[in-house]
Amino acid sequence: MKFGGTSVGKPERMNQVSQLITADDESKIVVLSALSGTTNSLVDISNAMAAGNKSDAKQLIEKLENHYKDFIKQLLKTETGLDAAGKVLQEHFEFLYIILRISFSEALNKDILAQGELLSTKLFSIYLTENNIDHALLPALEFMTIDAYDEPQVGAIKVKLAQLLKQSDKKIFITQGYICRNAKGEVDNLKRGGSDYSASLIAAAINASVCEIWTDIDGMHNNDPRIVNKTFAIEQLSFEEAAELAYFGAKILHPASIWPAQYYNVPVKLLNTMEPSAKGTLIAEKAGSVGVKAVAAKDGITAIRVKSSRMLLAYGFLRKVFEVFEKYRTSIDMITTSEVAVSVTIDNDVNLPDIIKELEPFGTVEIDTNHTIVSIVGNEIAETKDVMKKLFDAIEPIPVRMVSYGGSKHNVSLLIARNYKEQTLQLLNTGLFGL
Ligand code: ASP
Ligand code: MG
Repeated sequence: MKFGGTSVGKPERMNQVSQLITADDESKIVVLSALSGTTNSLVDISNAMAAGNKSDAKQLIEKLENHYKDFIKQLLKTETGLDAAGKVLQEHFEFLYIILRISFSEALNKDILAQGELLSTKLFSIYLTENNIDHALLPALEFMTIDAYDEPQVGAIKVKLAQLLKQSDKKIFITQGYICRNAKGEVDNLKRGGSDYSASLIAAAINASVCEIWTDIDGMHNNDPRIVNKTFAIEQLSFEEAAELAYFGAKILHPASIWPAQYYNVPVKLLNTMEPSAKGTLIAEKAGSVGVKAVAAKDGITAIRVKSSRMLLAYGFLRKVFEVFEKYRTSIDMITTSEVAVSVTIDNDVNLPDIIKELEPFGTVEIDTNHTIVSIVGNEIAETKDVMKKLFDAIEPIPVRMVSYGGSKHNVSLLIARNYKEQTLQLLNTGLFGL
């Protein structure tokens, strides 16, 4: 069971989490995020230190410390509990104040970012103890590891986790999401939003019966609820559908968290802490139904077109183009080709200047920044009657830069300029879902 930042962000929410984890008798590992807002504050603190701005950093630490002091006062009732929590705060904030005085490094940055999950799990554990809920803390830094390419290895995690679990006869384990150790043995993390990933890796490693992701929304929706006026929660998705949606913009789930669950065939449930009896979304091997399920959008996309008359009837051209992206470890999201040109999209343009330089010998290179991929996802969507007609009728007024169809059976993607996003999502909501 994984609980996100808002699900543990207030004392009364922690109370609710304690009820949810004790609602049945099954053994479980509970993965917690940092309290909502904490990781953002830690990022700010770290940035201030990196910029050599110590007084700003100190102020930010003090503000965060006060927030936690208030939090424990509301969370805990007993002298013993408050005492224990006070010690936890002292330990972690002392650490932050010490860092203020030493020179900043990337390794220190990771240490700073790890404080949020360490705090939330320790405070929650004290709360559980105060309420006589039997449990054990499971330190993520002792089993969650990534390799030199930042990839977690389920095999290694499995072995270490099994050893740790063997040492205890408890039924409830509390552990940190997000944080891990890297190949050098240093504290590291699974990137922002990575607690979902932690949960799914753990579920895979212990062969869990289910991986429950508890958030503050009632499942994955058919469209972006922040943008269009009417959306609904999807009952069931296949792993493939969920992966495409998470990757192409559905913010509810970290995109990488699908593969471990899929590979080890652990069903994932997206549930709402505020409304625990709601059905939520089940992500499993089977899609449940055929047809369009959802629309998602991903911003910050750069399109690159390489045009070359030499591509005509030539072979090996695409390989050379793709090799450039491989060299700069930049992944491509969408591709379209014609006989004389190829267009690809990337979402990470830190190496764009180098990439352009290496592509230029192959032909004319054109760049379009600030684009959005709109992805229409659904089981067997390509074979579902009328979907294509409805889709293109719906977006008739929108200039489309690229279309990708047929790459998978479950996805049609459109590339549009960012400023058409809201209109496109609304038009698709009407055209495909009648909303
Ligand atoms: N606390 C981390 C973040 O805010 C990880 C997570 O919540 O998933 O990104
Ligand atoms: Mg999250």
